[in-house]
Amino acid sequence: RTVYVNGEYVPETEAKVSIFDRAFLMADGVYEVTSVIDGKLVDFDGHAKRLERSLSELEMRNPVTMDELLEIHRELVKRNDLEEGGIYLQITRGAPADRDFAWPDPDEVPSGIVLFTFAKKLVEMPSIKTGIKVISIPDERWSRRDIKTTQLLYPSWGKMMAKKKGCDDAWMVEEGVVTEGTSNNAYIVKGNTIITRALSNDILHGITRAAVLRFAEEAQFKVEERDFTIAEAQEADEAFITSATTFVQPVVEIDGAAIGTGKPGDVSLRLREIYIEESLKTAK
Ligand code: PLP
Repeated sequence: RTVYVNGEYVPETEAKVSIFDRAFLMADGVYEVTSVIDGKLVDFDGHAKRLERSLSELEMRNPVTMDELLEIHRELVKRNDLEEGGIYLQITRGAPADRDFAWPDPDEVPSGIVLFTFAKKLVEMPSIKTGIKVISIPDERWSRRDIKTTQLLYPSWGKMMAKKKGCDDAWMVEEGVVTEGTSNNAYIVKGNTIITRALSNDILHGITRAAVLRFAEEAQFKVEERDFTIAEAQEADEAFITSATTFVQPVVEIDGAAIGTGKPGDVSLRLREIYIEESLKTAK
């Protein structure tokens, strides 16, 4: 693979970053994952906008302009012949001369930037036909989950807790209600209504979430942005998750209880179809 590191396109085996990079030492970095279908970037503008927000909340500078960023994404798709998969982008607070808790002066220490592509079947994901199984775990992350930081140890631990129980993922619970999945937003469906937690600093503002809710309303589904419990989810007709790397992914079991028929639900599958069709129209 050809990757992009601080202004250069290089083979992945030659890409280097400093051991003093603050993302390495302190998870002081933000990231985005943009999916690619038919060699095109899905909702690039949405991801670019959220990136700007993450950077500004952490007073971090973007080392490139948004036009340059789009250009780098496209160049990597081209150089790697990427038809389907995604692009991972990370911006870090850079590599000061030494480790220090205080943030370095951005005029002296420029931000670091790294991008790489990955190939993955997204439209014909094998797990769509079966759906996924989730467990619930307490949400023990920090409280600024609206910022997409590289501080991912708890979500990754949560995923392992799920795997150890023979499941695919974990939904995190705080004060008795579901926040989100380890790397996705969580939803339940009751009749014609799609229910998902409202936006706040407690969850990541999913780019796929925003698009799916918009398309759902356009398709005459009712959307309720409110809290729900694991017990309510277990009694729902359907459940699903969304993220850039799964789109709409049906959930068929929560903590051992089958959801609805125990098979991917019609509403979830319909939303998935609509999402893929509509988002391709604006893909760049
Ligand atoms: N929630 C969390 C915690 C995530 O890590 C992610 C994606 O990585 C999402 C939600 C989904 O966001 P998006 O749809 O922008 O991929």
